[in-house]
Amino acid sequence: MAVNNPQDWCWQLRHHLASLQAAGVLFLPRAEALTPEMAVLAADATGPHDSVTNEVSDPREARRVALAALATEVAACSRCSELFASRTQTVFGTGPLDAAIAFVGVAPDSEEDAHGEPFVGRIGQRLNRMIAACGFTREQVYLLNIIKCRTPKNRVPTNAECLNCRDYFQRQFDVIAPQYVVALGAFVAKLLTHKNVPLAELRGVVHQYRGKPLICTHHPKDIDNDKTDMLRRQTWEDLKLLLRTMGRPIPHPAG
Ligand code: SF4
Repeated sequence: MAVNNPQDWCWQLRHHLASLQAAGVLFLPRAEALTPEMAVLAADATGPHDSVTNEVSDPREARRVALAALATEVAACSRCSELFASRTQTVFGTGPLDAAIAFVGVAPDSEEDAHGEPFVGRIGQRLNRMIAACGFTREQVYLLNIIKCRTPKNRVPTNAECLNCRDYFQRQFDVIAPQYVVALGAFVAKLLTHKNVPLAELRGVVHQYRGKPLICTHHPKDIDNDKTDMLRRQTWEDLKLLLRTMGRPIPHPAG
């Protein structure tokens, strides 16, 4: 959807703010960073102005504010002109600030683009089952993509788009500071490990990403499309590696 006039901006911002609230973000940066239209909508969605502050002494609240400020910056981003013109909204990420694990995908698909949340629909249900197999709920982990905008026809992001969005991803990752990272699919695994080799060579090894243990496994979309069930079984082996790395018991897989 093209965003060429103030009404479109307002529509996009309303969706973005609703996503933030769903993710538990209760504070936004000071209103002078926003246009007047955006400031009004921000106040509508987050409560009275006296809850909007930069003077946050509590470290957890400081992180929450930083994340909200970054999400707002991302929502207005137009670095990739093609994606900016075609997206419904940016898809920032969802999950608690104290999430132990971050699951990382490539870019929003059409359903994520429509909902403003990563990993929804059938692919989301598959990921939910992977998370449950580890003994967690979706609400206990952080979900995000490398790229914050849907690519046309879900094509692979270009190098330029990855470079454009890299700074956002790294800043978001550093604020969330998960203890463990799971790269979903070959594209993300290569990016996060900085190794241009097949996923098969990246699985089964504990890598590091920004000082955190990183496990590489299949993307839930690929698992869903696999008629042989091999990828699901391989993914469970990868998740068991994650659990061993975390020092957690191995529960029975949920499917
Ligand atoms: S993909 Fe990232 S860098 Fe590109 S327009 Fe979207 S938010 Fe901006």
